[in-house]
Amino acid sequence: MNNLSKNYINGQWVDWNGDTIDVHEAGTGEVIAKVPASDREAMEQAIAAADAAFESWSESTLDQRIKVLEQLHAGLKERAGEIAETVCREVGMPIKLATGIQAGLPATVTKTYLKMLPDFPFTEQCGNSEVQYAPVGVVGCITPWNYPLHQVILKIVPAIAAGCTVVLKPAEIAPQSAYILAEILDGTDLPKGVFNLVCGEGQTVGDTLIKHPAVRMVSFTGSTRTGNLIAHAAADDFKRIALEMGGKSASVILPDADLAAAVKGTINNCLLNSGQTCTALTRMLVPADKHDEACELAAAAVAKMTPGNPLEETTRLGPLASAQQRDKVIDYIKLGIEEGHTLVAGGPEAPEGCDKGYFVKATVFGNVKPGSRLEQEEIFGPVLCVVPYQDEADAIRIANGTQYGLSGAVWSADAEKAKKVASKFRTGQVFVNGGDFNPMAPFGGFGHSGIGREFGKWGLEEFLEVRSLQL
Ligand code: NAD
Repeated sequence: MNNLSKNYINGQWVDWNGDTIDVHEAGTGEVIAKVPASDREAMEQAIAAADAAFESWSESTLDQRIKVLEQLHAGLKERAGEIAETVCREVGMPIKLATGIQAGLPATVTKTYLKMLPDFPFTEQCGNSEVQYAPVGVVGCITPWNYPLHQVILKIVPAIAAGCTVVLKPAEIAPQSAYILAEILDGTDLPKGVFNLVCGEGQTVGDTLIKHPAVRMVSFTGSTRTGNLIAHAAADDFKRIALEMGGKSASVILPDADLAAAVKGTINNCLLNSGQTCTALTRMLVPADKHDEACELAAAAVAKMTPGNPLEETTRLGPLASAQQRDKVIDYIKLGIEEGHTLVAGGPEAPEGCDKGYFVKATVFGNVKPGSRLEQEEIFGPVLCVVPYQDEADAIRIANGTQYGLSGAVWSADAEKAKKVASKFRTGQVFVNGGDFNPMAPFGGFGHSGIGREFGKWGLEEFLEVRSLQL
């Protein structure tokens, strides 16, 4: 990466000579890069470039778009090792997992669109009408730091495939993989101005992007707090929005489930990326008479998850991404103790031997009370709440009892029963008995977790307006 001090605007790397933002290594706390803290003017230049490029790109052929995405896919494969190490250092995800997820998933998702696009019906017949799916216009993409490249790819690949032009503002905590992406796109046949990258703070360049009249859609992944600001800003000039936000997902273990397997599956999901995953199963709902046994199993499972250097192949639990995130999670662990829940494993002290970097102990609370702050609020760290329930109706009520609605899980020996309970979840996805993640299936949230869907044809449709010609 040679361009970290620049923005990518209108097909050019543009120097930035103003303030910069430090990027830290999660495992050591050291500064590993500096990126532009761009101003509103830089963002306005990028929006103007995207606006100017829109007419021509909106009329590009599907073959042109597919060719660019094939070139992107090849570039992502070629630079996969570099992407994995970059994200591992910035975010703290252990390198083995970062290789498969942080570097692997972006290529996989790009491939799913390449497979789908040739058959996607960009026009349909409806009686005497031809229904056309037209690109929505200039799209502002704003992304978070936890899966930094994956979340960008989920936006820019379908946006470009739809014929939209894009301005990306990546997360300032983990921006480097977006630079790798811009370098890859710079080497493709994508016309200038179709993809632009401006790095900086949300309150300045992000704010300009969400309020600019030339931007016709904002596709956002991040906190519910910022999503709320975006929804308000978009309302002023009726921009389209797609929001992927927070979660507090429940894993409901039914009385007939294999308890050990269900606890293991829940813990593995909850601790993935040190709990910095929007879909993390952070509330484990267990029958009251199995609560203590579930807590023992959970404590034994987290005892094996000692935090370590994320660059080592054997590490399974890395640090958090930033000092701010570490402090926030420690405050939640202290709150859990103050609220009177039972501390089963972990705690607020730094793990042994981790005096540098942003490490937090994997922590389990038992007897967590529904409605408490610990049970309701997104922590975004390696903290599991074990919540006892009385009967199935009680479990469903607790599972659906937060403002969020992103994900969930159900475990039962009876697959049909599990499916029936899953269908009562007010969430965008539910994992039934540990079902596999599917990159073609729609992903998104109910309630305060989101508006719109990503992945597959649903992700593409977000970037399309519908026009009907009466013939
Ligand atoms: P955040 O909302 O603080 O930041 C996300 C992005 O928004 C960043 O690029 C930031 O610079 C930008 N931003 C901040 N203030 C802004 C403003 N006023 N105007 C415009 N842009 C602004 O979130 P975060 O801390 O980076 O990410 C963590 C959150 O993201 C968690 O809540 C997590 O659940 C959520 N998340 C959701 C999904 C999903 O798909 N549902 C996926 C990953 C993360």
